Amino acid sequence: MTQEQQQGLNLDQWLGAYAARANTLSVSEVRALFAVVSRPEVVSLAGGMPYVSALPKELLSQSYETLMASRGDIALQYGSGQGDPVLRDQIRELMALEGISSSVEDLVITTGSQHGLDLLSGLFLDEGDVVLAEAPSYVGAIGIFRHYEAHIEHVFTDDDGMSPEALQESIDKMLAEGRKIKFLYLVPNFGNPSGVTLSEPRRHKILEICRRHHILVIEDNPYGLLYFDEKPPMALRSYNEDGVIYLGSFSKILAPGFRVGYVLAPPAIRDKMVLANESALLCPSSFSQMMISEYLATADWQKQIDTFRGVYRDRRDAALQAMQEHLPGVRTTKPNGGFYLWLTLPQGIDSKAMLPLAVKELVAYTPGTAFFGDGTGQSNLRISYSYPTPDNIKIGIKRLATVINLQTELLETFGHKGAER
Ligand code: PMP
Repeated sequence: MTQEQQQGLNLDQWLGAYAARANTLSVSEVRALFAVVSRPEVVSLAGGMPYVSALPKELLSQSYETLMASRGDIALQYGSGQGDPVLRDQIRELMALEGISSSVEDLVITTGSQHGLDLLSGLFLDEGDVVLAEAPSYVGAIGIFRHYEAHIEHVFTDDDGMSPEALQESIDKMLAEGRKIKFLYLVPNFGNPSGVTLSEPRRHKILEICRRHHILVIEDNPYGLLYFDEKPPMALRSYNEDGVIYLGSFSKILAPGFRVGYVLAPPAIRDKMVLANESALLCPSSFSQMMISEYLATADWQKQIDTFRGVYRDRRDAALQAMQEHLPGVRTTKPNGGFYLWLTLPQGIDSKAMLPLAVKELVAYTPGTAFFGDGTGQSNLRISYSYPTPDNIKIGIKRLATVINLQTELLETFGHKGAER
């Protein structure tokens, strides 16, 4: 097929028929490059994929056999809009590890926590409503908030997580502008993309500020159990049951292919969530839920999480060691869990403009602008160390250093114009 024919096929004859909100869905500028990134010779530090090769496939096969033999007809059937009650009970045990006590009734199963966040946004956000978020914030959440035409107000965040003082300032500013603040969205443990963890004193301060202003908190916690040395502080939900909605997921502690997440919400919100779940997809996948339930009942899942911790700790160590060796002048966060490092480049280097050069050097990353709703983040980038082997991480960071060092030299020699070449 010629290029012209290809372009002709891509022309959309239904352009005039879309709802206005469809305009909020756009292909990211860096997505095109990601096709190149999947070439085997490129070390991709871009996507945050869990290392599912570390999973015990034979145990999952056994779970499948047992499930089909014992409850196959139920697993293959429609189920409850709120989710399987047996799995919800097992999730209570999982959440107890982070200090959360809950009842089976208050949990809703979703198709990944991304879906939970989408349902919540649909319930709460009207055009122009404010979502307060960390700076930087999870790219998938930004996409959802944009889709609901919310205003994303980023709040200054450092190595101890979001600053309570900055949060208060942002709230004051939004209220002075006459805006409606709907919720605060946080990834308090080993954040995506920053890798930072909200300190315990700040958790209390932030909860107190939100309580005072009657602002709901959405706590998104897919990485909390993947700590390397010490456990993170207790979940925000463990301190406040009425004002915090907690999002959890099996994607990082088991496998994203199941697409199972969960939401713990105060009863009135929970009821709305169930209705929204039923309206969107009738019920979450019975099969996926029951596979996970069987796995949790029969496998040593805590040991498996320990295995993941070891895998990701080794990769974090490889990444930090390579950073120290090849890029000692570039600031990076030092995560104690999760998948990500957040780099701050020397002033004047634009990480998005640099990406094609990096791909030419056979390494990829995610530019910082993806993690802001306001176009900032040019001098930052995210490295994900979860998927490549430690050796490949080191090779990737060495290649990245070649590109960054060249950019730095160009800047020093020619100023900004040089680095843009
Ligand atoms: N929240 C955060 C912070 C994430 O990093 C991700 C996945 N990258 C999600 C939510 C979505 O996860 P899930 O697979 O459960 O939809």
